[in-house]
Order: sequence, then C-alpha cells, then structure tokens
Amino acid sequence: MPNYAFPTCQIQISIESNQLNTCDVDHFVPLSTQFNSTHDLDLNGVWNLVLCCQDCNRGETNGKFARLPDEHLIQRLYKRNEYLIESNHPLKETIIMRTGKNQHQRANFLNTMYGFAKSLSRARWQPEFEYDIGF
Ligand SMILES: [Zn+2]
Repeated sequence: MPNYAFPTCQIQISIESNQLNTCDVDHFVPLSTQFNSTHDLDLNGVWNLVLCCQDCNRGETNGKFARLPDEHLIQRLYKRNEYLIESNHPLKETIIMRTGKNQHQRANFLNTMYGFAKSLSRARWQPEFEYDIGF
C-alpha cells in the first residue's frame, strides 16, 4: 500500500487501530465550514482528508480542532493530492472528479475552498514543528 500517511509534523503515526500512535483523520478545511454554505462542499471527500498525529489534531497545547491550517499549508495539501493522482492511487479518479481535470483547475478549487473558509474565521493553526518532506 502506498504510504500516504505523511503528517505535517512527521511524527511516526500508525494506520492500525488501537495503537498509542494511531493516526487521526482530519478535515483540512474544517467540517464546520459546511454550516455556512447551502452547497455541498464535499468536505468529507478524500481531497480534504489528511492523516495526522493525535496531538496535531486534538492535543491540549496546540491541537488543530476546528481551526483552519495556516495558508502556506494549502500547498502541501495540493502536493499531496497531486501525488495521489500521479501515483495512480485508487483514489485518483475521485480526487480528479471532485477537484478538477487539470492542475490549474485543482489549484483553483483548493484556493476557492480555502478562501471561503478563511472568510468565515480568523482562527488559524500550524504545527509546532514542521518538516519538509516533499509535501
Ligand atoms: Zn503531529
């Protein structure tokens, strides 16, 4: 199975359940964003779901919870989605169908979604530690 478990903070996470370091599945654009739109934003779509460590998602000191990630992190989400598309991952078609047929459309899609979420809330999140691992 291709490893798409690249958490932003790069802490070792497990995709098996009931481990101390079992990953969380987080919505990059917070699910609460949907409450402000009458359109289906597809926030439960794979394009918006990222695996992360429990601390980043809901840790006491710097958990993301319903905050929007800092703007520079949208680039990582874009790269992650492009990686899944280029690697012929089974989720490829779903991501293309939801976000666009080419890179330009997909970048616009993410920027539009991010811009909408950004207009709703000032609260931003970024990890305490961030490693450059390609995306
Ligand atoms: Zn983390």
